Amino acid sequence: MDLQDRFKSAAMAVQKAQALVITAGAGMGVDSGLPDFRGERGFWNAYPMYERLGISFAGTANPAHFERDPAFGWGFYGHRTNLYRETLPHAGFSLLLDWCASFGLDCFVVTSNVDGQFQKAGFAEENILEVHGSIHYLQCTKPCSPAIWENSETIPIDFTTMRAGHIPKCVHCGSTARPNILMFGDWSWISDRTDRQERAFDEFVADHRGRSILVIEMGAGTAIPTIRHTSEQLGRQKGVTVIRINPREGQIASPHVSLSCGALEGLRGISDALH
Ligand SMILES: [Zn+2]
Repeated sequence: MDLQDRFKSAAMAVQKAQALVITAGAGMGVDSGLPDFRGERGFWNAYPMYERLGISFAGTANPAHFERDPAFGWGFYGHRTNLYRETLPHAGFSLLLDWCASFGLDCFVVTSNVDGQFQKAGFAEENILEVHGSIHYLQCTKPCSPAIWENSETIPIDFTTMRAGHIPKCVHCGSTARPNILMFGDWSWISDRTDRQERAFDEFVADHRGRSILVIEMGAGTAIPTIRHTSEQLGRQKGVTVIRINPREGQIASPHVSLSCGALEGLRGISDALH
């Protein structure tokens, strides 16, 4: 089957679906202009300063910085906070919303991205599971309490040093606050918000059991396989079809549909086949 035929199969799956589960990894943001930290090169291309310092993504995304050197820890996360606030979700997000509206699909989003782009595009907050948390929420570094609060701080960054000019503080004890994101080697991440979202997702799946559920997976690689596992686990249930959109790692067994292209190209291809 060539790609055009696959777009047709995917479009048919959209037409017969009763519910939609969107599963998204880092590749989803690429078409919005966001960097995907694929491999050491990918991270250093996005952040040349860390290459000069010889620090990898795993070395940068480490909770220890917030205790030892908060201006350095916030350099990376402050930069990303600003970037995600400025970024507009690409047209693929609206295509997905259009299908939900025109085909009357109940929809749930499961994403490993911490960028808040689904909320920004107009997906309902209560139907989103952010498995690694969100950069738009903060928690205490210690942590002194299980509190999680919205990040409304302005964080200027010096690009030559990648250090932050302002350090958000815990609203309860005054210690350094950190993003409510699961980092590498992270024992102090507060998972309460994500746990609540996970319960809502489990309920959604239980409510739609036995019905025709379509899973559209985008930009989820094998390096951090959480999102692929979610799609594949759902795909084993009766009545569930998975469309895997991935330019490099698109493989998935029939009757599921594999689209070897980027997220936006894949969604546009399905949209054209629907019309
Ligand atoms: Zn605190």
